[in-house]
Amino acid sequence: MVRAPASLNKVEPMATGNPGTAAQLGHERVPLYVPRTEAEELTNLSECLRTNMLIHGPFVNRFERGIADYVGAAFGVGTNSGTAALHTALLIAGVAAGEEVLITTLTFIAPANAIRYVGAHPVFVDVDPASWQMDPQLVARFFDENCESTPAGLVNRTSGRRIGAIVAVHFLGVPVDLDPLLMLADRHGIPLIEDAAQGLGTLYKGQRVGSRGLIGCFSFYGNKLITAGGGGMIVTNREDLAKRARYLVNQAKDDPVETLHKSIGYNYRMTNLHGAIGCAQLERIDRHIEAKRRIAARYEAALPGQPGLSLLTGGPDSFYTFWLSTILVDKAKFGLTARELMADLREQNIEALPIYQPLHLSEAHSGAQMLGGKVAERLAHDGLSLPSSIGLSDADQDRVIATIMTAGEAARTGRASGRTAR
Ligand SMILES: *Cc1c(COP(=O)(O)O)cnc(C)c1O
Repeated sequence: MVRAPASLNKVEPMATGNPGTAAQLGHERVPLYVPRTEAEELTNLSECLRTNMLIHGPFVNRFERGIADYVGAAFGVGTNSGTAALHTALLIAGVAAGEEVLITTLTFIAPANAIRYVGAHPVFVDVDPASWQMDPQLVARFFDENCESTPAGLVNRTSGRRIGAIVAVHFLGVPVDLDPLLMLADRHGIPLIEDAAQGLGTLYKGQRVGSRGLIGCFSFYGNKLITAGGGGMIVTNREDLAKRARYLVNQAKDDPVETLHKSIGYNYRMTNLHGAIGCAQLERIDRHIEAKRRIAARYEAALPGQPGLSLLTGGPDSFYTFWLSTILVDKAKFGLTARELMADLREQNIEALPIYQPLHLSEAHSGAQMLGGKVAERLAHDGLSLPSSIGLSDADQDRVIATIMTAGEAARTGRASGRTAR
């Protein structure tokens, strides 16, 4: 079998931090997450070049069919990013300028930005402390106490704005509790869009996420479970929505020959090059999930025994991909904050990163409404994502675990761990 050149998998040195110390110790960098490519990607890409089909081509259709089948949706429409998929999803769901869209405060910023692209306003919702996902009870209470049903739909009494959609994000590869959210959406005639960018392969009540909402969105950015070198996808069971999405992402062409356009379209289509890489990765998705879960299980076996450390693990009978293994660090017991631990890891050339700043604290979304917020703020303060690459070796992971243990012990016993004042 042909192997991809080693250089394809080569890890570039970290741009930030202190490359000196760890390099002197002879430690290779352990990145938070790097994609893994194999020979199949090269074969497919060569096929694109050989056939001169770089933009349009059969790999796009094959990848769309593959993802739609995988998540159990009728239709898939490729896009050039997950953000583009979310923007398009909001457009085809009919979310209008001036409306409000409910979304978790604890996620990557892209879905909140997409809400703003259509001129709508995000209403940020705090998370459940056990699952770290949007708390459906806060949404229910908001609808009950702050909104009223009108002939035009559900309206926020304070702002006077119509509720246009719920965006349900599956954060860190753990599913959001969809049933109560779908029930609320149904009751009030509000579309529910799933942002499953971090949730590909995750099961909610035995079913892969992304296909329960009106529309599901995926991303194939380099840090996702599978990558296409960028790209995204919309899935839906509604043929009319799939057609509309395909139309919008292809510049809203109304005639195959004449350049006639009835709508404002977008250049959001997925290229055949994306599709070629995506198809190759999708064939190995089970192995990717297995690797992620194995990494999470090894962290889980070692770390929660440490004072002040806990892991996002989810419920006993759920199936999570653990897209990014993430711990909570309680300084009072562990001896260091999450960010202090991050700095200690960095000195050993190990990359760990805090989870996202809650979006209600983001300057980009200042002034947005917020339901609760204290849980997300605590998780964001204490959370630290650990190296979770598909190709992470046991030896490298053991070094990450040992470094964490040593740093905590040193801090608790007052010994300097190579760092000065904190
Ligand atoms: C990565 C990601 C996106 C955006 O996808 P891109 O392909 O990077 O545009 C959206 N939502 C979530 C939750 C993500 O993690």
